[in-house]
This record gives sequence, structure tokens and C-alpha cells, in this order.
Amino acid sequence: MPGHTADAFPRCVELIAAGGHEIAHHGYCHEPPARLSASEEEAVLIKGIEALRRITGERPNGYRAPLWEPSDRTLRLLEREGFLYDSSLMARDFEPYHPRIGDKITADQVVWGRPSSIVEMPSSWVVDDWGQIANISRTGGGGVAPPGHVLEVWREYFEYAYEQPQSTFVVFTAHPQATGHGHGVRILRRLLDDLRSREGVTFLTMPAAWRRRGGSRAQRATIGHPRRHGAGARAPDQASDERAGRARTGGADWDP
Ligand SMILES: [Zn+2]
Repeated sequence: MPGHTADAFPRCVELIAAGGHEIAHHGYCHEPPARLSASEEEAVLIKGIEALRRITGERPNGYRAPLWEPSDRTLRLLEREGFLYDSSLMARDFEPYHPRIGDKITADQVVWGRPSSIVEMPSSWVVDDWGQIANISRTGGGGVAPPGHVLEVWREYFEYAYEQPQSTFVVFTAHPQATGHGHGVRILRRLLDDLRSREGVTFLTMPAAWRRRGGSRAQRATIGHPRRHGAGARAPDQASDERAGRARTGGADWDP
């Protein structure tokens, strides 16, 4: 959630938080970091943290770059500010991982950087409702597809994840100004009702999914900033309105 939204509509955001939903950082005025200077990016990150903290009483655990456009500074800033996860990079569809910082790739060689302490949670344009049903023709693409189109994309994406033998995480992105219209709400309800009926499917916030997979704050303490609040800040096992996570305990290494 952009911090500006929290500042403009505090009562609404309080109700969302009181409903057990996780509220994560999404810029202050939805500024894509890739289009900001270093000082501007830092300023809006801090401003957004403070805006969300005024509502929830705690620093946010998670971050998603507005327009999915992080900068090459973003992960370091998230580490410094004690974030648990990012969800902007899209390198894996169904598994969390630790993205690298400082890769140097030239025509002659590749030098891999270090793994970040930040957990990268799955996300993708292809399961973001915006490109499917929002009217974004002014920005060169998309349009207003029938909402059933989104439902088909989400279902097939989920079904592939469900076929996998290991635990998988499926993260859908639904905007209130897209899926939040009446016809979109109807398809979202149909999808969620269906997923609830499937064996082994659990709805989790991102931090709860991370813990379910075996992650702990101690694992990231070597790089992360120590001023995090405790885990499980807000009813982490309750359903989120835009995330469906499937998890089995135990497991695989998250590193790439
Ligand atoms: Zn956004």
C-alpha cells in the first residue's frame, strides 16, 4: 500500500489491518524506484514506512516496487531498513529465493554478487489483474478484457503450481480499481471459493508463508537491520485478499 493512501484514508486502512490483512510497503505516492535518484528513493522509502507505522504501529515486513520497477539500490535499502521480503523481481513463479546483490555482467564475464538477506516472494505481471482488465491503453497496451479471462489465467497458473510435488506459493495481484469493480469481485469470489475447497491449500500472508517454509528471523540476522519488530505482527495466518499460498511444512532450500 502506498503510504499516501494510508495517510489519506486512515480509517479505511485501520479496518483493513484490523481484519488481519498484512499491509506492506508500496512507495509513498507510488514512485517507481528505477526512476528516482538515490536520495529520492531513500526518502520515499522512509516516508512510506512511517505512514504505515502510524496505522499499524509497526514497520512493514514487505515491499513491492511501484510498477514493479525497483532500482539497483532497492535491495540494499530494504536490508538496511530491516525488511523481511521483497516481491518485485519475478525470477521465480512459485518459490521464494534470496536474490543476489552486485552481479557484474559484461560481454566478457559474469561475476555473481552476494545473496541478499531479503527473501524474494513470487510475483508476476502475468497474474496481475492490471494488464488484463484495467484500461491502460494510454500507456501502450492492455485494455478491458472480460473478467473471465483473468479467472482463466489465475486458475491455470494455480493448477500448474498445484500439480507440483513440492510446496509452492501462488501470489495473485488484484487492484481495488480493477478487480474491485463488481464483475471482478464476482470472479475473485468464485476463484477463492474454489481454492478453499482444494486439499492442501492454505491462505497465508507473506511472512506466515515464509515461516511455514521454515524461515526464521535468525537466518537473516547477519545482514538485516536489528530494529525489526517481532514476527507475526498481525494475525498472519488469516486469509489475504490478494494472496493464495499453498504450503507444506518442511523443505527445500530457498537459495537459487
Ligand atoms: Zn502499484
